[in-house]
This record gives sequence, C-alpha cells and structure tokens, in this order.
Amino acid sequence: MPVWEERWHPLREEWVIVAAHRQDRPWIGQEVRAGAARVPPYVAECYLCPGNARVSGARNPPYTGTYVFDNDHPSVGPLAPQVLEPASGIYRNRPATGIARVVCYSPRHDLTLAELEPAEVDRLLEVWQEQYRDLGGRQGVDHVLVFENKGEVVGVSNPHPHCQIYATNFVFKTIETEARAGERHLAETGRVLFQDILAAERSDGRRIVAENDTAIAFLPYFARYAYEVFVAPKATHPSLADLSNEERRDLAVVLQDVLVRFDNLWGMPFPYVMPLHQAPTDGRSYPGFHFHIEFHPPLRKPNLLKYLAGPEIGGGNFLSDTAPEEKAAELRRLPAVHYRRLP
Ligand SMILES: [Zn+2]
Ligand SMILES: [Zn+2]
Repeated sequence: MPVWEERWHPLREEWVIVAAHRQDRPWIGQEVRAGAARVPPYVAECYLCPGNARVSGARNPPYTGTYVFDNDHPSVGPLAPQVLEPASGIYRNRPATGIARVVCYSPRHDLTLAELEPAEVDRLLEVWQEQYRDLGGRQGVDHVLVFENKGEVVGVSNPHPHCQIYATNFVFKTIETEARAGERHLAETGRVLFQDILAAERSDGRRIVAENDTAIAFLPYFARYAYEVFVAPKATHPSLADLSNEERRDLAVVLQDVLVRFDNLWGMPFPYVMPLHQAPTDGRSYPGFHFHIEFHPPLRKPNLLKYLAGPEIGGGNFLSDTAPEEKAAELRRLPAVHYRRLP
C-alpha cells in the first residue's frame, strides 16, 4: 500500500502531502507533442475532452462550457487512509483528508485561457467563486487552493485547458505567511498591506501591465520571477467569491489581457503556475487579506528556464536575474490581440 498521508516538516513548520499512489497517473503530454504542432480541438485519448472515459471508469458528459469533477488521482481526498503507520519520535503525520477537483475551462482541447471568449473567462471566474463557497464552507476544509499549471515545463501531462483545486485540512504556507503579514500590517497601521502595495505601484507606475476601472495587473517591485505578474481587484476582498459581478467582469478582462501578452511574448503558449491567493476558510475572519492571482512563469527566455538552485531551493530565498521595471515595459509593448487571432 503506497503511503498517502500528511507529514509535518518540523524545521519549515509546514505540512508535506505524501501521495505516493499518484505515481501511475496518466501522462499524455509527450504523445500530444509528438503528434502535430497544431493541437486538434478534440482528442480521443484525452481524459478531459467531452464524452471521453477517464481512468476511474467515469465518463465525461458532453459538456459545452466549464466542467468540474473530483480528481481521479487526488492528492487529498475523502478516501485517504484514516489509519496510519505511527510516526516515531518527534515526527507527526495525519490523514490527507480534503477534496481535490479538476475544472475544465472549455470543451475545446486546443484552446488556452488566453484564447477563450471574455464571457467564458468570466464564467470560469464564476465557477471558481462557486467552488470557493462550496468547498470552503465544508467542515474540515481550512483552505481552498485554486491553481493552474500550464506547459510541459511545469509538468503538465495534458494540454487540455484546466486547473485544479485542493481543498485541504491545513492552510498552505504562502497563504499563511501572507495572511499573517496582512494581519500584522493592519494591526500596526490600520491599513491593508496590499492596498499599500497598490499605492506604491501606482505612484511609480513603471510596473503596471494592465488596468481598468476596478482591476489591475502589475509586475511587483519584489518579483522573484522575470515575468511574475499579480492580477487583482482594486478593492480589498478576502476572496474571489466576495467580488461583485461588475468587479469579476473587470478582473476577467485584465486577466485575459495579461494572458494574451504572455502568449504574444514569444509567439507560443506561455507556461506558468497560476495560483489564486484567497483567505483561509478556517472559520476566522481575514479583513487584511486582499484576494489576488499570481503568475509564476518558469521561463526567462523561450528555452531558458529559471532554475531553482542553491539560493532558492538550498536557502529558500530568490535570486532574480532581471529588473521588474524592464520586464513590465516589455509586456506593455506587446499587442493586446492574441497572435493566433491575427490574420
Ligand atoms: Zn482534451
Ligand atoms: Zn499572494
């Protein structure tokens, strides 16, 4: 029986999810790449395309918009073993309970988030709102992490546009750190930390990538990756679920603007890790938490990865090789129309 549990890291003070049963999950990335440069709109072997069967035996409905289902290879789940091998000495473990889901953005296998219609992006944000409310409202779910991994370079096994949701019995470390920083800033100054960040970005202006009435995108002063972009509503809301419909539509527009610029950068689907940073759902209130979306793109140039090495993996702090001001200007100069839509 492969190990499936959470183990406490006493030095980093964080949980590690051990999900050794996921090793044999399906991988179709290689095959798709070897097939053709142009990805077809429907792939018979794709476990995310409408109407297709998944490894679990379940069959996808003939969906026409977004489609949400429980992950067949969950990292956390209701079926995680409840009886665990006891940890020795100082070590602690516990069941990896929670819910892991997959959200297909579109029935089209060949589209990316950058290429969806604006109304479809808004609908996706609405689905994320529903998922945060549904999962976050459940007993034992302390946090809802929505994230998209895009591109083989970040290990994505299937190009079909989709994201994942981990509803966990703990708060992810970065969220915990951000929540604590926001809480302290609020207590010390009476102000929301993220609003002070927005004020600093606005007064400088060089790192703003896109903006409309209620939403903004910028490459922060403190960016760790070359093309790290934050997308956020201008008003403080602890989660996406708290946005009005108008704010959500504005956010969808700015989000897509950034995605189009990313793809236009090198005329290729731009790989990234995109987490939504939302307040924990552990029953406490987080007035100092300002919901935002972060992009962590691993590439510095078309074929040049930002390798995480000594400083980052060894020490835990980033060494950035690029100036955020220059990278933001580079993104701003790009066309706002996707290269695949140009005649
Ligand atoms: Zn597909
Ligand atoms: Zn964040």
